[in-house]
Amino acid sequence: MTEKRTADYYGGRPVTQFVLCGDGMEIGISDFGAKVDYIRTETNFGWKDITLGFRSTEDYARCGIYCGALVGRVANRIAGGRFSLGGKEYVLDRNNGGNCNHGGFDGYDRRFFSGSVLDDGSVQMELFSPDGDQGFPGNLKLKAVFSLEKNVFTVNYEAVSDADTLWVPTCHIYFNLGGEDGGTALDSRLRLNSSAYTPLSPAYVPSGETVPVSGTPFDFSSGATLFENMDFSDGQIAMARGYDHNFILDGEHAASVRNDRTGIGFDLYTDMPALQLYSAGFLDGEEGKTRKYGPGDGFCLEPQFVPDAVNLKGFEIPEIKAGEVKKHFIRYEFSRNG
Ligand code: BGC
Repeated sequence: MTEKRTADYYGGRPVTQFVLCGDGMEIGISDFGAKVDYIRTETNFGWKDITLGFRSTEDYARCGIYCGALVGRVANRIAGGRFSLGGKEYVLDRNNGGNCNHGGFDGYDRRFFSGSVLDDGSVQMELFSPDGDQGFPGNLKLKAVFSLEKNVFTVNYEAVSDADTLWVPTCHIYFNLGGEDGGTALDSRLRLNSSAYTPLSPAYVPSGETVPVSGTPFDFSSGATLFENMDFSDGQIAMARGYDHNFILDGEHAASVRNDRTGIGFDLYTDMPALQLYSAGFLDGEEGKTRKYGPGDGFCLEPQFVPDAVNLKGFEIPEIKAGEVKKHFIRYEFSRNG
């Protein structure tokens, strides 16, 4: 049974939290930002929350690091906050060093969604994003359905717009598979189904090149801990204070990650063509659920399209045509000591 409760108030409005129950795990999702508030699971050390987050909605909104949130309209950066589509130029919010990041100043991470429990117990979050929202064309209707069956957590996204536009959803969970209350998250072992990544330009957007990961600190094809690979003598790693890079995916089974101490891991699947690995090098003393966060206290695996694809050559553009129903999914298959 999916529970529903008032978890907090923000701007005088109740924030509703929905709780999905699985096999040895429980996931809280709230209608503010359609955000994953926590993932609690049985580990080798008892039950632990394996996601970073905050104690109040106020803190989520103030810190603006997209913790657990549904990101949009377009996850990641659009260079210079502008793009052309169908011969028209659009100017977006420049909320990140001259670029548009994760939608703009008022991203979906700080909107109230309309939440409901469906007949099968899944949680549906709906949002209407009007024409011109953060500069993007088209009235966009967005739906995300969160479900948990045993250890499998799925988010199914669907959107329709009345004008041609761009749309890339993602789920911006910061994981610490050792437990939110523990130390660094970078001791987890990661395998990425990716043979190439897109280096950053000095403007912190993909330069347009695609570089094979082989022989670089970006090679997670046979599995390595984040620590092991993170070589700060590499210019790309130094610039991003670790990993904050886009990988081109070679298939839907995007990643596997595991923490040997707690035994918790998951396999990540998506139909999107790329993935951002962010090792949270920019965390800076935020007062989190049980402690202050610093660099590497979490990591994000964000399915996406190649950032700024609309302004680059050779990458799939996340365009959604007027009237077209577009769907994407992200699926986390959790396991213990697997
Ligand atoms: C971005 C980072 C950013 C973080 C929080 C990630 O998706 O790639 O550059 O610092 O989100 O905003």
